[in-house]
Amino acid sequence: MSVSTPAVKVPPTAALAVAWRQAPSAVPVAYVGGGTALQLAWGVEQPPPAMTLIDVTQGAVPAGVALHDGMLHLGAATRLEALRTDARVRAHAPLLAQALDALGALSVRHLATLGGNIGWRWGDTLAALLALDAEAEVDTDPVPRPLAEVLRRPVLPLVRAVRVPLPAAAPVAVYEKVGARAAFSPSRLALAIRAQLAHGRLHGLRLAATAAALPARRLARAEAVLDGADCRSLPARAGDLRAALQQDLHDDTDPQRVRLAARLLLGHLNRRLPHSA
Ligand SMILES: Cc1cc2nc3c(=O)[nH]c(=O)nc-3n(C[C@H](O)[C@H](O)[C@H](O)COP(=O)(O)OP(=O)(O)OC[C@H]3O[C@@H](n4cnc5c(N)ncnc54)[C@H](O)[C@@H]3O)c2cc1C
Repeated sequence: MSVSTPAVKVPPTAALAVAWRQAPSAVPVAYVGGGTALQLAWGVEQPPPAMTLIDVTQGAVPAGVALHDGMLHLGAATRLEALRTDARVRAHAPLLAQALDALGALSVRHLATLGGNIGWRWGDTLAALLALDAEAEVDTDPVPRPLAEVLRRPVLPLVRAVRVPLPAAAPVAVYEKVGARAAFSPSRLALAIRAQLAHGRLHGLRLAATAAALPARRLARAEAVLDGADCRSLPARAGDLRAALQQDLHDDTDPQRVRLAARLLLGHLNRRLPHSA
């Protein structure tokens, strides 16, 4: 019996990677970083499907972290454990560092790449990156695009790098990942919250969410409801918040997620807003 295995091609440039992915093919063609998310879909009982994998980690996209032009530059081929332990990431983008701390096991993080976490569409880094107003360098385009816009495309382009505008640290910076207690169970919700505080009120609020099977997104309607709130006005906004979250999560198949997100948001913001005596 012949067993099909994926063929792996290694393009030396981003242009070649994009051309190979777009060329007509008899089998599915996909970019691959560490392969840790792709192999989840293959299962363990059967051989991997016949397909062509384009390994983008050998020259097509860069690896590594750099700090210049007021931005943190993250190469898409950077392994997640290298990103998690990078001093510049921890100092300048603590929200992203929190997300990485909660992501998978060491063995997975050693293989997994930032590009693959983004390409998976519900990777844990995405909520943090969206709340940080990250931009992405994609395909061969020299102009970076907002990550939120890139994620709305039906077919994700090749992600070469991500840029996080600095300063990214903020007085309100929370990343929380909620799941069942079983050892390997998919996350129910990963939530990132970032805001400035002025005169006891939230401003510049950024909210983003992702979860297993829930593609990452900004919670723009919830942001509009909560921006400007202080600790006294927060409880009165709970009803509007749930209605806004229904819209932000309109395609979600989990009916409980809106209540969960609202509870987490109100709890975290209430704890971080100043309470006058
Ligand atoms: C045991 C286990 C636990 C896990 N736990 C978590 C967890 O807690 N949180 C979490 O977020 N994930 C988790 N994952 C999923 C996965 O490991 C991560 O999402 C990882 O970051 C994927 O990266 P990768 O490089 O291995 O992606 P790959 O599997 O190589 O690719 C994933 C997707 O991204 C695409 N892709 C790859 N590189 C690029 C690129 N540069 N540009 C555009 N598209 C690209 C691929 O075509 C594919 O569609 C887990 C996986 C396993 C096996």
